[in-house]
Amino acid sequence: MATTPVIDGHNDLPWQLLRRFNNQLKLPEANLTLLEGTHTNIPKLRSGHVGGQFWSVYVPCDTQNKDAVKRTLEQIDVVHRMCELYPETFACVVDSDGIQEAFENNKVASLIGVEGGHSIDSSLGVLRTFYHLGVRYMTLTHSCNTPWADNWLVDTGDDPLVHHGLSPFGKTVLEEMNRLGMIVDLAHVSVDTMKMALNISKAPVIFSHSSAYSLCPHRRNVPDDVLRMVASTGSLVMVNFYNEYVTCENTATLFDVADHMDHVKNVAGAQSVGFGGDYDGVSWVPTGLEDVSKYPALVAELLARNWTEAEVRGALAENLIRVFRKVEEVKVTLQGTAPLETPIAIEELEGTCRTSYGYSSTSGASTAQLAPATLALVLLCSLFP
Ligand SMILES: [Zn+2]
Repeated sequence: MATTPVIDGHNDLPWQLLRRFNNQLKLPEANLTLLEGTHTNIPKLRSGHVGGQFWSVYVPCDTQNKDAVKRTLEQIDVVHRMCELYPETFACVVDSDGIQEAFENNKVASLIGVEGGHSIDSSLGVLRTFYHLGVRYMTLTHSCNTPWADNWLVDTGDDPLVHHGLSPFGKTVLEEMNRLGMIVDLAHVSVDTMKMALNISKAPVIFSHSSAYSLCPHRRNVPDDVLRMVASTGSLVMVNFYNEYVTCENTATLFDVADHMDHVKNVAGAQSVGFGGDYDGVSWVPTGLEDVSKYPALVAELLARNWTEAEVRGALAENLIRVFRKVEEVKVTLQGTAPLETPIAIEELEGTCRTSYGYSSTSGASTAQLAPATLALVLLCSLFP
């Protein structure tokens, strides 16, 4: 791991920084070298040989149709400030070359993943702006439907089946992500959404923090037929360590996680395996994988299970770098394509106090011609600003 450190697909430290310190990084108790009570701090990252991390700029689903965009921007900002405040540890990077460079400089390559399409508030303009701010993957949903994609709770029956995967606008979002060079992440989506995205994406995709459904039948996990699509598209499953997704129980061990990695390898091939610990986003992690310092113990277990060094290096970093390079290549092939401009239909937006500028002027519609539900909300918003 000194030559090939781990690139982890999902870590929620920024969410902890919001919850504990309201993003005030200079508070003495927020010092990332001394930080306690979290899975992640700088010494733990160092002893875990973490060389790359997708920091999640997660904001919960209850921000949808409220302040999701603002709060996501603030989480992006806190990652940027983390890199500025600890330049000897973190290097904020935006491409695969940047990851390699950070490896060489013994820094933690810090990348940004948006966890849930609700963060873009159904706006291609916001999606593109996030890209410009350094976001390099977006999970299409968190644990809620968006106006354009179904989430995993549709498969448990807890959320209504709305889109059977992606709506036409959802396909546009994915197409724009391919054009921008933003990785499509399918953790948290419904099986229909997984399959549709795998079928239409021009670039390989990732599951940034999901495990194997056939070992633990939780709908956050990836079923075998989808694992086969992962293999045929050159995509990647970064295995989640959360006990509930590993054993479907409160308890789990490092060996159970190794079983998931073995399973993904057996069904989809070693080139499809990665690490997606979900540290600091979950309450229970396995015995032997208590925090981000423990990756080497899992690597030792894979080697004990006769994974070759090349297979282990693939899972640690090279598989992710391969997917990222492919995503960057697709971006280059689409360079001549103009940014997609067709907005979501206003009728597809859910109840909210958002304004309708653009919609009313381009269609020539006055407030009176808007859909009744929208009109009611406009009235409600003016009554209760
Ligand atoms: Zn998650």
